[in-house]
Amino acid sequence: MEDAFYLYRMDVLLEQIAACKNEMAQFDAGQADAAEVFRIRFLGTKGLIKSLMGELKNVSPADRRDMGQHLNELKVMAEERWEVLRQQQAQAAAGSASAIDRTLPGSPIPAGTRHPLSLVRNEIVAIFRRLGFAVAEGPEIEDDWHNFGAMNLPEDHPARDMQDTFYISQQPAWLLRTHTSSVQARVMEQQQPPIRVICPGRVYRNETISARAHCFFHQVEGLYIDEHVSFADLKQTLYFFVQEMLGKNVKIRFRPSYFPFTEPSAEMDISCLICEGKGCSVCKHTGWVEILGSGMVHPKVLENFSIDPNKYTGFAFGMGIERITQLKYQINDLRLYSQNDVRFLQQFGGVV
Ligand SMILES: [Zn+2]
Repeated sequence: MEDAFYLYRMDVLLEQIAACKNEMAQFDAGQADAAEVFRIRFLGTKGLIKSLMGELKNVSPADRRDMGQHLNELKVMAEERWEVLRQQQAQAAAGSASAIDRTLPGSPIPAGTRHPLSLVRNEIVAIFRRLGFAVAEGPEIEDDWHNFGAMNLPEDHPARDMQDTFYISQQPAWLLRTHTSSVQARVMEQQQPPIRVICPGRVYRNETISARAHCFFHQVEGLYIDEHVSFADLKQTLYFFVQEMLGKNVKIRFRPSYFPFTEPSAEMDISCLICEGKGCSVCKHTGWVEILGSGMVHPKVLENFSIDPNKYTGFAFGMGIERITQLKYQINDLRLYSQNDVRFLQQFGGVV
């Protein structure tokens, strides 16, 4: 009967306390000015807890003491939460003031440099592109025909000894290409003259690794087949290349040589860049440095691809990119190219 005079029954007030705790638990601590918003909502003079405290007088005296304890717990809980929010806000303010200055420029990411062999290959390709040569590429794992047979190097040919390579034991007919002539073979297979391509790429030889030899290196080979292509065209093309690549003062000379896939064949030397022809250790005191092999495409090679040697002639040449890089940058040890030593690599500026 007495209960009727009291607005609040214990269980109703307990539900309201639980609802208040629930709201505190879901309070968005990330909102702007979170600590102050929290204080006003829960601890302020018109806040939830104050208003619940005000209801205490409406609870029956028997329950009042118990209720008071519940409300005190709620208040302590709210104050602790408020303190945490204030500290978080202070830390965030200090952090944004000292650690993150959004007006500072970003930290630069160091740019790498291109490998010297890539720089030189790109330069070689760019020069021949200006002469109308297209770039052709092909597989590094080749079959015997494209690497040797098609290039007029039959199985018992002694010149194969100079190009010993790596074979694949499960597939004896496959090998790692010894030159990018195999790419020329693939071009001639698919295309009739006029053909004007350069073939840059990695090639392999079964050699002991030393300062002057490696089991892999890089080549650029070139092939030009059309009607009336002569040795004079070969000579002028290579002369233009050398002048563009190494300078206008460089002289060239041709020495007769032998390659199974060209006839006649010639090695090309350039005047020594280091001593300018006077003689030094690089040119072995001759004043000349060998840089490439060349010649007129052997009629047998043309016939292998059903190109009529009576109608078409062509020239071919091949050079080692390492060799040109050595001359350009005075690098005296082939092994440096593949050791991945950053002290060596970062000396070659530029990423283009
Ligand atoms: Zn010299």
